Amino acid sequence: MRIFNSIHSLRGAIKILKSRKKRIGFVPTMGALHRGHGSLFLRSRRENDITVVSIFVNPKQFGLREDFDAYPRPEKSDILLAKKEMVDIIFYPSENEMYRTGFLTSVQVDTISQILCGKSRPGHFRGVTTVVNKLLNIVAPDVLYLGQKDTQQAVLIKRMIADLNIPVTVRICPIVRERDGLALSSRNCYLSARQRLEAPILYRALQNAKQKALEGEHRSLHLGRFIRSTIARQSSGKIDYIACVDADTLAPLRRLRGKIMIALAVKFGKTRLIDNIVFSL
Ligand code: AMP
Repeated sequence: MRIFNSIHSLRGAIKILKSRKKRIGFVPTMGALHRGHGSLFLRSRRENDITVVSIFVNPKQFGLREDFDAYPRPEKSDILLAKKEMVDIIFYPSENEMYRTGFLTSVQVDTISQILCGKSRPGHFRGVTTVVNKLLNIVAPDVLYLGQKDTQQAVLIKRMIADLNIPVTVRICPIVRERDGLALSSRNCYLSARQRLEAPILYRALQNAKQKALEGEHRSLHLGRFIRSTIARQSSGKIDYIACVDADTLAPLRRLRGKIMIALAVKFGKTRLIDNIVFSL
């Protein structure tokens, strides 16, 4: 496994790989790697000759009062995990390498960046699409791997790639969960013991709502109320949003039909967790 800190040297290596006709899979991450990231690495390894993973805690996607400083940065164990997962290349740039003095540009996907998570995290998705655009320009992969866990992010990035004619294929990988259903997240380490016990209620509530929908309850309002009361009764979580939307476009649905996603964001203390479930009617 090779580790690059500079854009210039990584580009040199990629150029050589491309001249040898190697197919490149790319997984962008913010580090604090877990089995969820690992599932993306594995899929990329299976489908490509070379897997590139970036580790960069992107300051532009954190709000002023968010956890940029506190975000876990376990460099050594990340590198060990990537090695174990047989990642070929890690791109580990500094903030200065990615955002040189004078940096002024941003990439924004309109409208769908302002809803759901975008509502309570203004500017977040602009930061995400800007950094992913930069990373795609640097790595120039054939295939980009993203997790269904960050579903709004995935929809936005797909939109950006289509709108800006970026020559890359996108693969969305399923959510990896703990045994009790909690979606793996680098932020789960912030949870107190009690919050950690409560947090699996998010997925249970989503599963129960899906069941209700399959049994005939197609009114979003009612499903939303049901999830809200389940979470309120069984945990200390404070709900940011619960939304029933079209899984491909994120358009809100008053009545469920087609390919549906129920998505939610809930705060346990200062820790904001997101989760979602996708199904068809
Ligand atoms: P992050 O490091 O949180 O920015 O995540 C990097 C990539 O890993 C994103 O595409 C995430 O959607 C994906 N990811 C994070 N958690 C999970 C999970 N539990 N299961 C599958 N993919 C995940």
